[in-house]
Amino acid sequence: MIRVEGLSKHYGELVVLKEINTVIHKGEIISIIGPSGTGKSTFLRCLNLLETPTGGDIFIDDVPLFDKNTSVPKVRQKMGMVFQSFNLYAHLSVLENLTIGPIKLLGKKKEEANKRAVELLNLVGLAEKVNSFPDELSGGQKQRVAIARCMAMEPEILLFDEPTSALDPTMVSEVLAVIRRLAREGITMVIVTHEMEFAANISSRVFYMDEGLIYEEGSPEQIFENPQREKTKTFIHRIRSLVRHISSKAYDLYAIQGEMEIFCEKHMLPKKVSDDIMLIVEEVLTLQSDFSDIDLSLSYHEKDGSIEFLCESTGNLTNLLDETSMEDNIGILILKSRCKHIDYRYVNGRNIINLTVKL
Ligand code: ADP
Ligand code: MG
Repeated sequence: MIRVEGLSKHYGELVVLKEINTVIHKGEIISIIGPSGTGKSTFLRCLNLLETPTGGDIFIDDVPLFDKNTSVPKVRQKMGMVFQSFNLYAHLSVLENLTIGPIKLLGKKKEEANKRAVELLNLVGLAEKVNSFPDELSGGQKQRVAIARCMAMEPEILLFDEPTSALDPTMVSEVLAVIRRLAREGITMVIVTHEMEFAANISSRVFYMDEGLIYEEGSPEQIFENPQREKTKTFIHRIRSLVRHISSKAYDLYAIQGEMEIFCEKHMLPKKVSDDIMLIVEEVLTLQSDFSDIDLSLSYHEKDGSIEFLCESTGNLTNLLDETSMEDNIGILILKSRCKHIDYRYVNGRNIINLTVKL
């Protein structure tokens, strides 16, 4: 369905796409992952004719996109693109947002367009918002309307450019659920995403982009469980950490909590998880008796989304986490309720408390 041959895109001296070659078959669901700035959006924009490549070509059903005889509107009509920011028409109702394209561009009758719009709003779970205006909707709802509006144009291919990255963490899952549902309808999809779990579950193939190329591609199992090339491995296994040191009893708890909160926001962790981490930091520090040398580390494993909190300190905590001494310790009960796993070790004069935060 889509064939990309030697696609390159330069912005002046900057080579964004060096040479992209691939074939995407009808009904496939492709996830594109990779560090930012590696040309993922540029690639989608070339597919959607929003950019003119420097070299190479793209064929959709054997029609060359960048040939001067190709009808641009006709090709565009086959593709719908969902952007990070929802781009709804603010002055039109949800219904009108969904019908304006089909009526003006596909020549549909109003009744027919309305009927299809209502079906699509049902599909994305927003039937009751048919007469609302965009600014009456949450971010997640706007994005679902944007997806329905795309579908109203009856595209054969749907392109998503980080559809959840502008959303509040609490709204990510409703949008992913809608995309998952569309995936089952058999429409061809290309999705640029940072949601690794989602990409692993939904895709038929995953492209890892780097160095201006599709650096590595494969099934989700191959890319996420057993990446072959160096940069893919680094990207898949990357762990983001925040490390802080305490050297006296006069440490600033609020500053540490504040930094951890920002860390959670940056990685779009739910508010509940962020609140739990604040509490865990406080409780773990309450267990300490010696504040001369404490290392705190909060790690977020991107691959599986797990969060680990580590506290290393000198002196002996006389194993406070031991079952026998914890019955009446409220701090420990709090930790237990917020953590999936708590591990305590005493190694070379250091107490090591290792907690896996519940999600
Ligand atoms: P990604 O989506 O993978 O983060 P992009 O495709 O947005 O990457 O961008 C790739 C590179 O191309 C970046 O370095 C970006 O600054 C540059 N770039 C993107 N669009 C333009 C443009 N219109 N003019 C100049 N440079 C651009
Ligand atoms: Mg991008």
